[in-house]
Amino acid sequence: MRMILLGPPGAGKGTQAANLSMALKVPHISTGDIFRANIKEGTPLGVLAKSFIDAGKLVPDDVTIGIVELRLAQEDCKNGFIMDGFPRTIVQAEMFEKMLAKQHTGVKLVANIFVPDELIIKRMSGRRMCTCGRTYHIENNLPKVEGICDACGKPLYIRDDDREETVIQRLKTYDEQTSPLVEYYRREGLLKDFDGTKPIQVTTQEILDEMK
Ligand code: AMP
Repeated sequence: MRMILLGPPGAGKGTQAANLSMALKVPHISTGDIFRANIKEGTPLGVLAKSFIDAGKLVPDDVTIGIVELRLAQEDCKNGFIMDGFPRTIVQAEMFEKMLAKQHTGVKLVANIFVPDELIIKRMSGRRMCTCGRTYHIENNLPKVEGICDACGKPLYIRDDDREETVIQRLKTYDEQTSPLVEYYRREGLLKDFDGTKPIQVTTQEILDEMK
């Protein structure tokens, strides 16, 4: 099962990826989570990525493609993956296709999750994250214990780049650099649209149904 989740920031890609990863038993790969883990560890990759992330811009393609290549080489990816937040540019998509072609494989579904901009701003301001990749929301996706991740028990945190001015720049970056991927994958016949305003589990089920 090789799937890409596409959609603007705040569309619910992280939440859907976590659900789908559990249901389909393939890893959830989030380039954003990999960058955040590196920022936390203070690695050179983290230092580099932070300057772009804090500005609401994309980390350069060569750097991003390099980390995806390393991650895909790991054993747990051999039966597939749920890609969350990659590719984000046409160059990344083309390089990704080549990477998979080398393994004689390709992507089966690109799930495009769409939500209106007003809702995105509202969602991001209530978002709470865990370092394990789970995402929560203070209104509609609460953890069982306030401030604590259901899956791993670690404390939740607010992302630095969920500040309103950074969110506005991230949406602009999405429109300029990532949204062309919608047409790119539609032309390839891989794209299906999903309404990200529906309840979380409904969208998860719709994506799973599409996979059958
Ligand atoms: P995310 O958690 O997917 O929203 O990613 C957070 C930030 O990490 C983005 O706003 C970008 O700055 C950076 N990032 C994540 N994935 C990519 C990617 N595929 N290409 C470039 N930058 C990325």
